[in-house]
Amino acid sequence: MTNPEMPLKIIIVGGGTAGWLSAGFLFSQLPQTTNRAVQITLIEASDIPTVGVGEATIPSLRQTLAACGVSEIEFLKSCDATFKHGIQFTQWRKAPKEDPGEAYFHPFGDPIEVAGLNPARQWSRLEPEERGAFADLFSVQAELAKSGRAPKHLRDRPYDGALAYAYHLDAGKLAQFLKERFRKRGINHVIGTVEDVALGDDGVIASLTLQSGDVMTADLYIDCTGFAARLINSDKTNVFEDKSPILFVDKAVTTRIPHDGIQAINGYTKCTAQTSGWIWDIALQERRGIGHVYSSRHTSEEDAKRQLAQYIGQPEGDLDIRALNMRIGYHRQQWRGNCVAIGLSSGFLEPLESTGIYLIEMANWALADMIPRFLSGARPQDHFSRIMSNHYENITDFLKLHYCLTDRRDTAFWRDNCEADTIPVTLQEKLNAWEDNIPSVYDFDRTTQCFSQTNFQFVLFGMGWRGHKQPTPRSERIGHMLQELATRRQRLREFVVRDTVTNAEIFSAIGTN
Ligand code: FAD
Repeated sequence: MTNPEMPLKIIIVGGGTAGWLSAGFLFSQLPQTTNRAVQITLIEASDIPTVGVGEATIPSLRQTLAACGVSEIEFLKSCDATFKHGIQFTQWRKAPKEDPGEAYFHPFGDPIEVAGLNPARQWSRLEPEERGAFADLFSVQAELAKSGRAPKHLRDRPYDGALAYAYHLDAGKLAQFLKERFRKRGINHVIGTVEDVALGDDGVIASLTLQSGDVMTADLYIDCTGFAARLINSDKTNVFEDKSPILFVDKAVTTRIPHDGIQAINGYTKCTAQTSGWIWDIALQERRGIGHVYSSRHTSEEDAKRQLAQYIGQPEGDLDIRALNMRIGYHRQQWRGNCVAIGLSSGFLEPLESTGIYLIEMANWALADMIPRFLSGARPQDHFSRIMSNHYENITDFLKLHYCLTDRRDTAFWRDNCEADTIPVTLQEKLNAWEDNIPSVYDFDRTTQCFSQTNFQFVLFGMGWRGHKQPTPRSERIGHMLQELATRRQRLREFVVRDTVTNAEIFSAIGTN
């Protein structure tokens, strides 16, 4: 137990997105969860680069930024941010040769409901040719995102809108934005490299020694050192739950190019499948961020760069391309003794559904609740590690779902992704349960699982999952339900279109461009 008369001392090591978001969040939230004064110091090496990518987010970031007490307009302006309605997946089900342009959409909002009926269940009973695209019937977001409409109106309250939304942002600018604000508010910022982590007999951190020779101590240490995991795995005994046998992509080549102006900003991430991975394409206010993540077991860096250049339609030599490695999986002990891992030091599961920053947020929300227990001498470490492992396992299942239902057999990458021994048992059990059914709310725990039945439905049906082995002949009841669904969708569309503005209007009004 720490001395309740003294301020709680927290040291965060790492000045990337994880470091600065954790610093801002804990600085803002801890005064509400503990009655101790809090001193936060962030130590950041000047010569170890940040990952610097992480451009797509999910809606939870709105609540997290609000909890940090930062203005949404300031955030949008400073971080080159745009709105995101969801993700479009192109060629994930069929190779371009078989069905050029094949695509489906995963929007953020829940499917439209019809009172007293379960329209998704009814819809899944139709013959495939009768169905239409699930996301187009059950959501308005694909249509509105593609037409450049923002999810909100200028008069909407900050972080609030007519539709669920997230952001695309410049990760480097986000860290800078938070750094500027929270240094002013009282976070102590030290430039230095941690060279040694001294562990006590019980495995808790006794002190950190910097390259300068300075020795620093705290009550709680937060490891935000990225893939190095310099604190949480300093003695190399923290077991790494390796997910690379399930999720194959482990390298990336990324670049930035100008876009065609603010009118060209679409409110969704484009994820286009390639022969051994996929390409993301994200429009920020001032540029496009494009990256090819691929499996090094299935292709080479040269080929990945060539496909990236081909996608962009420019010679490779004209592009400034950066290569990155990814370690896929997570540390079993997310909180050990007095050290918590947040960000890439905790783990990473490839960027397909934009969960890197989300995991940073979830760790911080849980930590803010558990710090009072830690201070009172209780041992929240294993509980915290279980919460984070639930998140990682849920995301692993959901990401694999995008790959293992493919009809593509054109390359080893896609064929290998369908091998039964690469599919987690937890996902296989769900797929078995849904053979003649659809995902149910009871299959998930929404507090520690980001992706629930609604997300699984969008991807399952986007990938052509039948849902029912035997289609049911169209009954009057189904006809009524479909009509009701169409009416509700039309009403929602009218309301959203009336109540929102276009991306171009919103950005010119807040003066970002
Ligand atoms: P880093 O950015 O690596 O920062 C580590 C920090 O620790 C640096 O400041 C470094 O100087 C410091 N440091 C390291 N060692 C020491 C030391 N010994 N002493 C002092 N300081 C030290 N996430 C999303 O949410 N959406 C996305 O679209 C997305 N896309 C991604 C694409 C790719 C290819 C990759 C690899 C990741 C992506 N992510 C995405 C994840 C996202 O980039 C990270 O979650 C996020 O950037 C957090 O990184 P970090 O702060 O943990 O680590």
